[in-house]
Amino acid sequence: MAEASTQVDRPSGEPGRTDIAARDPEGLGALAVEHGQPAYRARQMVAWLYGRLVRSFDEMTDLPGALRAALEDRFWLTHPEMVDIQRSSDGTRKYLWRLADGVLVESVGIPTDERLTVCFSTQAGCAMRCSFCATGRGGFVRDLLPGEMAWQVALVAQDFGLRASGAVAMGQGEPFNAYEATLGGLRLMNHPHGLGIGARHLTVSTSGVVPGIDRLAREPEQFTLAVSLHSAVQDTRDRLMPGVRRWQLPRLREALVSYAERTGRRPTLEYALIAGENDTPAEVDALVAFARGWLCHVNLIPVNPVTGAQTARPAEAKVAEVAAALRRAGVEATVRVERGADIDAACGQLTQRHRDEDV
Ligand code: SAH
Ligand code: SF4
Repeated sequence: MAEASTQVDRPSGEPGRTDIAARDPEGLGALAVEHGQPAYRARQMVAWLYGRLVRSFDEMTDLPGALRAALEDRFWLTHPEMVDIQRSSDGTRKYLWRLADGVLVESVGIPTDERLTVCFSTQAGCAMRCSFCATGRGGFVRDLLPGEMAWQVALVAQDFGLRASGAVAMGQGEPFNAYEATLGGLRLMNHPHGLGIGARHLTVSTSGVVPGIDRLAREPEQFTLAVSLHSAVQDTRDRLMPGVRRWQLPRLREALVSYAERTGRRPTLEYALIAGENDTPAEVDALVAFARGWLCHVNLIPVNPVTGAQTARPAEAKVAEVAAALRRAGVEATVRVERGADIDAACGQLTQRHRDEDV
């Protein structure tokens, strides 16, 4: 990809200039070549932009002056601005960013021992309308640019004073609805001169956009895949996740099985347990049937109730019972430990609610 498909216009308008954050490593290489420079200049640009987090092209002192001037002419370089930060008693921090065009998105930093995982957004809002998800309720605003994703992770790490050891595309947005940009963002994070995060520690979570799963299986990097299943009964899933109705369960399973076979990697099936909805014996049987017999891992998440959605968490004993049923059938299963609940930073709680507020 040379440039992400989303072009972000600044309301202030800077005719002829675009956002440098639209360029992934390959796009930065193409840019160097356009200006008569060797492609390896991309490494230097990635290092300055995402490794050292410079705020102007002037600071890229090992680039030839003519290239720096050309960059200045053609692009703007504007970091997401941190407009709010909330700290949980467990160390988790939730960030609200204002992007170059004024759009607001959230990310979450989750420290464990000396490690830091950053949950970043791939879109502002989301078009998938999952009934239990706060992001889905706010509607879709726009795709983020690769650099806007990498900057969320780099700036959160900077705020913690730690290196990000992993990043997950589990903030706002459906990553496979912004496939090119998301892959570009992951490549900036994976780049040894960017954030240097190993591909296996970079996770994409999809609501089940099958063409994206097929595409990811053919990428050269070993990125990790998670799929939000939430029900293996078609009617229930259609109701909970109307945005992925067109990829029915047998097709989803087929795509996942061939992903696992082709890559040798184990996808995670995310399953948010909602009392009386997807934790009944029939639902658990369907989940077991979906997950058994191939390389996968089920992650059970007691649902986080969001305002306006009719969702309640099952009792802890129920969660343990579902996990036990899966293990009896030979399916690997874990129960997610919740982080950041006191600041609404847990799964599915990132919203656009600040959008119309004066932050
Ligand atoms: N759009 C992608 C990634 C972002 S959502 C996806 O849906 O996979 C990250 C995870 O949070 C998904 O597994 C999503 O289903 C889950 N989630 C959303 N709302 C939730 C809620 N209220 N409680 C628990 N998990 C939720
Ligand atoms: Fe979008 Fe994921 Fe939320 Fe569904 S769960 S609305 S796909 S962010």
